[in-house]
Amino acid sequence: MATATGVEGSLIYAVSSLLRDEISAYGSAIFLLDLLPDKTPEQVLVEVRHPRGSRSLSSHLKSRLKLDGIKAALLHELLSKEAINDPVRLAHAIKVLPVKLVAARPIEEAISSAGGVMFEGLDAQLQLKLPDGTAQAVFCAGEMLDWEAPTGGYLLTACFASGCAAGQGVLRHFGL
Ligand SMILES: Cc1cc2nc3c(=O)[nH]c(=O)nc-3n(C[C@H](O)[C@H](O)[C@H](O)COP(=O)(O)OP(=O)(O)OC[C@H]3O[C@@H](n4cnc5c(N)ncnc54)[C@H](O)[C@@H]3O)c2cc1C
Repeated sequence: MATATGVEGSLIYAVSSLLRDEISAYGSAIFLLDLLPDKTPEQVLVEVRHPRGSRSLSSHLKSRLKLDGIKAALLHELLSKEAINDPVRLAHAIKVLPVKLVAARPIEEAISSAGGVMFEGLDAQLQLKLPDGTAQAVFCAGEMLDWEAPTGGYLLTACFASGCAAGQGVLRHFGL
């Protein structure tokens, strides 16, 4: 899904940790989009090369390849004028379109965030391992934990499950 500032959706969520790590290591990340996965590169090239007469490139791509809307907009956005008018480069880009990302959205917009309390610092009841003699007992659950959970319903499931485990830990801690 293209948004005003970039991309999101289940496809992006699935690789968001890889993209984020790439951006923090190299300043940007590039993923390659196949705009017509049901067609081979050869089929795409044949259709792009098909004589288009007086028709515009946009209507040519729409009629020969059913390529319009956001896909056509992406080609115009990401390809140079020379590349879009070169049938070989255009056909290649339709199958392997590089999309460059430069940053993740701010944390205020995040559905889930990486980082948090590491499992090594917790016991089986999700209680923080603190030095002997510490009066406080701290239990952690949900987004407090250092996890990279898959989105799509699993975050809430894991928050509820870890909240339940921590709650049971609290009861046990107080002998209830
Ligand atoms: C827009 C959006 C869509 C999402 N969609 C899905 C989805 O479809 N499926 C899914 O599984 N997950 C989804 N998630 C993720 C899911 O909602 C979160 O992972 C989950 O709610 C986290 O639960 P939590 O209890 O760990 O944290 P939170 O729900 O953030 O709860 C933390 C609570 O602590 C309170 N708090 C913070 N600081 C203090 C303080 N100092 N003292 C007292 N209270 C404090 C906050 O006010 C908040 O109520 C979505 C998240 C967002 C933002």
